[in-house]
Amino acid sequence: MKLITGVDILDEEIKKKLTTENIYKIFNNFIFPLITDEEREFLEELEQFLLKEIEPKMNLEEQVYNLFPILGRRNYVQRLNPHGDGERYNMRYEMLLAMAISIVDPELDLARVVTGVIFANPLFQFGKGDRIFEILNQIMAGKKIGCICITERKHGSDAVNMETKVSDRVDYIILNGEKLYTTNGPVADYFIVYGVSDVSDPRGSMYQAIAEREFEGLTTNRLGIQSVPRVEIGQTLFDSVKIPRKNVLGAKGQGYKNLFSGLVAERCAIIGSSLGIAWLTAITGLIYTNLRTQFNRPIYDFQGVSFPQTQNFTELMAATELGLRSALEYDKTVEKKHFEEQKFVKYNAAFSSGTKYLASNLAQKISYETQQLCGGIAFTDNLRIDRALGVAKVQEIIGGARNIQLYLVSRAIKDMISIL
Ligand SMILES: Cc1cc2nc3c(=O)[nH]c(=O)nc-3n(C[C@H](O)[C@H](O)[C@H](O)COP(=O)(O)OP(=O)(O)OC[C@H]3O[C@@H](n4cnc5c(N)ncnc54)[C@H](O)[C@@H]3O)c2cc1C
Repeated sequence: MKLITGVDILDEEIKKKLTTENIYKIFNNFIFPLITDEEREFLEELEQFLLKEIEPKMNLEEQVYNLFPILGRRNYVQRLNPHGDGERYNMRYEMLLAMAISIVDPELDLARVVTGVIFANPLFQFGKGDRIFEILNQIMAGKKIGCICITERKHGSDAVNMETKVSDRVDYIILNGEKLYTTNGPVADYFIVYGVSDVSDPRGSMYQAIAEREFEGLTTNRLGIQSVPRVEIGQTLFDSVKIPRKNVLGAKGQGYKNLFSGLVAERCAIIGSSLGIAWLTAITGLIYTNLRTQFNRPIYDFQGVSFPQTQNFTELMAATELGLRSALEYDKTVEKKHFEEQKFVKYNAAFSSGTKYLASNLAQKISYETQQLCGGIAFTDNLRIDRALGVAKVQEIIGGARNIQLYLVSRAIKDMISIL
C-alpha cells in the first residue's frame, strides 16, 4: 500500500509550537491531578523515552514494526503483566503507556496493543511450559510479533458461533478455517487462534492455541484497509495446520472461558489508546487555533471555534477519569483473584464495555470535530489529526463494534431489575 507524504504548508511559527514535547506538556497538566506520584514518575520517564528514542526513528512512510524492538528494550511493549524488573505493571500503567504512545504515534500503539496485550495477556494468564515463556520473551523484546484470530467471514459480532474446526489428536490439534481482520496478521510470527471441535456446541468445544508462522498450512494475506496504512491487517488461513499440544492454552471448552476472561483486558487497553488519540488531536487543535489567525484574530477568539473545543476537553477529562477508574477496577479484580467470582467478572466486563464505547467514540468525535475546526491543513499530513482519525475509527470497531459494547452494558443494567 503506497503511503503518501506531501509538501509542507504549515506556518513556521505554528510548527515550532506544535511539537510532541509541547503536546505532552499540556497533556501532563490535565493528567497529573488524576494519577499517583509513582504513576507520574513513570509517565515522565516514558515521555522522555518516546521523545528521544521513538520519535526521531518514526518514518510515516514505513510500517510501525521496526519500532517494536526499541520499545522492547525498556519493557514498553506492554505494562499490564509483570515482566522484567520493577513493579510498574498493572492496567493503570498499561493505560498510561497506551496514552503516551498514542500521542506520539497512534498506529504504533494500535499494533503494540495487539501484540503486547491482546496476544500476550492470554500467555501470561494461561501459558505453561518453556516454549510459551520463550515466545513471551520474544514478544516482550519486540523481536517477534503476535496477533489474535477470532473474527470469521460469517461470524463477527457473533464470534462465539465460529466455524473454524478443530480435530483433537491427543499430541496435537488440527485446525481448518479462515479468520479475518487479523491485526498484525500478515507480518506476525505467532497467532492466537480459536476453533471448535463441534460447531453446534461452541461453548463446550472451543480451543485456544498458538499457531506459529512456520507451521505448514498457515498463510496470510493483507486486506486493503486504508485508515491505518502503517499497520497490516489481514486474512489468516488455516489449512490442516497441526498445532502441538504444548501450544494449546485452552483445551476443549476452556478456550471459551479464556476468550471471555481476556476481553476485559483487551477493552481496557483500547480505552487507553483511544484516550491518547483524543488528547493528541484535542491539544493539537488547541495549539493550532490559538496561533492561526483569520480576520486579524486568532481563530480561537471566535466562540464558534473555542466553545466546541472546550466541550471536547470537558468530555475528555471526564472520560479519562472514567478510563483510569475502569483500569483500577480491573486491577482490583486481578489482585483479589476474583476471576472465578461471577459477580465481579460480570461487573468488570460491563464497566469496561461502557467505558470502551465512550472513549473510542469520543476519540473519533474529537478527532473529526478538531479537523473541521482547524480547517484544510488538518486534512494534510502537516498535522497529525487525519492520521489519528483513521486510527480512532479502527479503535471503535476493534475489540467489538460499539453496538456490542452497548449490548453488554444493556444486559448488565437490566440485571439490576432482579435486585428489586
Ligand atoms: C481494522 C480492524 C481490525 C480488527 N482487528 C481484529 C483482530 O485483530 N482480530 C480479530 O479477530 N478481529 C479483528 N477485527 C474484527 C472486529 O472485531 C469485527 O469487525 C467486529 O467484531 C464486528 O464484526 P463484523 O465486522 O463481522 O460486523 P457484524 O458483526 O456483521 O456487524 C455489523 C453491524 O451490525 C451490528 N450488530 C451486529 N449484531 C448486533 C446486535 N446483536 N445488536 C445490535 N447491533 C448489532 C454491529 O454493531 C455492526 O454495526 C478487526 C476489525 C477491523 C475493522
